[in-house]
Amino acid sequence: MRVESVETVVEALVGHTVLLRAALNVPVLGGRVSNPFRLEAALKTVSLLSAHGVKVVLLSHIGDAPTASMRPVYDYLAQKIPLSCVDDVAGPKAVAAARALKNGEVLLIENLRREPGEVQNNEHFVRRLAALGDVYVNDDFPASHRAHASVVGLPSVMPSYAGLQFLAELEGLSHALEPRSPSLAILGGAKFVTKEPLIRALLTKYDTVFVGGALATDFFKAKGYEVGKSLVSVSPHISDLLENSKIMLPTDVTVENLHGREVKAPDALLPTDTIYDIGPATLEQLKPYIHKAKTVLWNGPMGNFEKGFSEMTEDLARLVARAPGYSAVGGGDTIAAIEKLGLNSKFEFLSTAGGAMLDFLAHGTVPGIEALEKGKKLG
Ligand code: ADP
Ligand code: MG
Repeated sequence: MRVESVETVVEALVGHTVLLRAALNVPVLGGRVSNPFRLEAALKTVSLLSAHGVKVVLLSHIGDAPTASMRPVYDYLAQKIPLSCVDDVAGPKAVAAARALKNGEVLLIENLRREPGEVQNNEHFVRRLAALGDVYVNDDFPASHRAHASVVGLPSVMPSYAGLQFLAELEGLSHALEPRSPSLAILGGAKFVTKEPLIRALLTKYDTVFVGGALATDFFKAKGYEVGKSLVSVSPHISDLLENSKIMLPTDVTVENLHGREVKAPDALLPTDTIYDIGPATLEQLKPYIHKAKTVLWNGPMGNFEKGFSEMTEDLARLVARAPGYSAVGGGDTIAAIEKLGLNSKFEFLSTAGGAMLDFLAHGTVPGIEALEKGKKLG
């Protein structure tokens, strides 16, 4: 492992204050946490530190608006562990609350992004944050593709370690980066531009790369097929990918048109058709690959489940869950589909990360890992 685990030094941290960057950025609906998957995963490191008499200051951002509050996260976590919160990030109130901590106590500060210095990785803000504690722990793999103050700034000024969930992500994704042959990568979802680097990186490592979801429509369009009113990205340059024999595309698609739903061959669409999902023959075609694979990596849903086209994604989830090889799955929407089916425990590895997972798989590292590798250690 390239980074050091906080577990190796936890005995030495008794009585010290750890600034724990945790993945507490969860969806909130009507003031309540609507999916606690990441919070449950974050509790492992919090409990480890707290049980050893370490003082913990929890740092995270939440939502997209800098005004968003950590309050719903506090309400959720406070039911699980003794916890206090403060309506401040790194001002006098936060400093006072951090200083008042007793051994084993946990404090949650407000949304880091309330301070512009967080995203800017501003030196002055890094120093103010660092003043809240003695040692830094990164347990927020999902935020580690961002060069923000709480990801790369803090480990440049204080002893720094990796948390348990961070290490679990790193280990699981490292497996996925070195797949055992025969290997299969399954990609879906939308936004070709954000997934293109991943497709290209996986083609260098995997035997077969299946492309489904709206990503497949970009390939169909590049082949010159009629794609009707389907979602396509703006002019992706994929002509070279069309010739790559490792890429597998859907052999049928589920479309919606004036008559309702229909399954069609990808080259048989009319201008009035919209592709919303892959088709059943495609799943049949994938089956033997999934069954034979020693490593299966899956990211991105096969269809537009928000519009009710979740059937193929769910069938695929069942297939991958039963796969005898190592299976790693990631992506917010993909995990949500798996959770809905209660299949969580059937996969060797479920990533809590979205963008960070894509960046890690595409580039082999992310800024948060590099910062921990360079960061100084205790004593
Ligand atoms: P993840 O969060 O798992 O990484 P993405 O965010 O990449 O997944 O993709 C999820 C989105 O892809 C969903 O909003 C879904 O509706 C959309 N999607 C998948 N297939 C299609 C399709 N054929 N047409 C339109 N949207 C699609
Ligand atoms: Mg998504």
